[in-house]
Amino acid sequence: MQDSPDNTRMRFLLDLRRRGIGDQAVLRALEEVPRDAFLPADMASSAYADRALPIDCGQTISQPFVVAYMTEQLEVRPHHRVLEIGTGSGYQAAVLSRLAHRVVSIERYRTLADTAQARLGDLGFQNVEVIVGDGMLGAADHAPFDRIIVTAAADAVPSALIDQLAVGGMLIAPLGPPDGVQHLTKVTKTETGEQRATLIPVRFVPLVAGKAQHL
Ligand code: SAH
Repeated sequence: MQDSPDNTRMRFLLDLRRRGIGDQAVLRALEEVPRDAFLPADMASSAYADRALPIDCGQTISQPFVVAYMTEQLEVRPHHRVLEIGTGSGYQAAVLSRLAHRVVSIERYRTLADTAQARLGDLGFQNVEVIVGDGMLGAADHAPFDRIIVTAAADAVPSALIDQLAVGGMLIAPLGPPDGVQHLTKVTKTETGEQRATLIPVRFVPLVAGKAQHL
């Protein structure tokens, strides 16, 4: 028997809880963001399965568990200014927007950035600004950020992002080989340097330098 949309979404949240997502504010944010609205129409029926799914420009929307886990690890508070690198569909940005004061998200494909910005506006997520650009350079004119989330994989954290992080701020990024398994890494900036913690293995599409030439 086909589940009703409400049951499907309830099960989605229960699964996240069962897999260890315990932060109530994070679970509420995930409940408030309809993942189906961030997918191409022919994919919308798979929206609440715990899988990464294809979007335009050969990119992907992250697996919900990974979105929930990264969001929880980021410890976002209502006064925070958050930077996201890799807007993609805009789903992660929407989830963050429920928890933060303001979200700036950078995407190298104009098509994705424009679609995400329009979608976020239509759905009422007003505190997100999507910028077309190279996220490896961050957004110096909006810095410093209390939190930075990178949703594409790199061997190392681009130094501009560490520079644009406030002291006491946290950054989370998938680090490792572009076509293999990466590990989510959490960097906390201190007065004197930084602390690092290695979290779970993940697979993200690669972080690519420069604005995309077409699209
Ligand atoms: N957070 C997204 C999923 C990201 S997929 C979501 O919730 O849907 C990774 C995205 O990072 C892709 O859209 C890709 O185009 C983008 N990307 C890769 N390198 C980038 C860079 N240097 N600057 C900005 N965006 C980049």
